[in-house]
Amino acid sequence: MLRDGDRIKIITQEKPVKFDPDIIRLCQTPRARSELSRVFRQKRETLAGEIGQSLIRQELKRWGVPFAVLESDEAADILEYFGKENLNELFQDVGQGQLRLKELIYEIKNGLYAGRQTLLPPTGALNSIDLDTLDQDSVKFSQCCHPLPIEKGLLGLLSERGLSIHKKECPKLNELKLQREDVVMIRWQLKIGRAWP
Ligand SMILES: [Zn+2]
Repeated sequence: MLRDGDRIKIITQEKPVKFDPDIIRLCQTPRARSELSRVFRQKRETLAGEIGQSLIRQELKRWGVPFAVLESDEAADILEYFGKENLNELFQDVGQGQLRLKELIYEIKNGLYAGRQTLLPPTGALNSIDLDTLDQDSVKFSQCCHPLPIEKGLLGLLSERGLSIHKKECPKLNELKLQREDVVMIRWQLKIGRAWP
């Protein structure tokens, strides 16, 4: 069970399948190519679902709204409103930046949780995710500001193509005039393998 909503570990897979996206180009048949891109898409969607859920938990906590409201029967209204079949689809959409966290929280607060007391609007602190993967098909190090993997204080932008990583001072990121809810703070939790047995 989750106790501290501020830090949630994102675990992608026990043993990550190490596919380099370049392999796609090496595949001879269209069938092999489409099979591989399906695998990549699934990995991206799984990660996005976990990120989305983590962000929703953190954001609801900031507002003092229990996450359990999303697991109640009335949550069906929220799913219907956003045209989603189940919670996982909702999580994925948030994790891929297809559904804005701010908009979802607004609907939960004013629909699902209407008439009940919430905390003051949160300011400042970004939501964060603990990331344990550098898979190129899920995590993109942007060309604009050249962040280094495992660098501290990097920010992530949610997108359908994966999590796009930028430096805090990236000019391109700042041009986007993003709101607090649109950006996540990355905390690396990479397992560093031993160099020799
Ligand atoms: Zn950048």
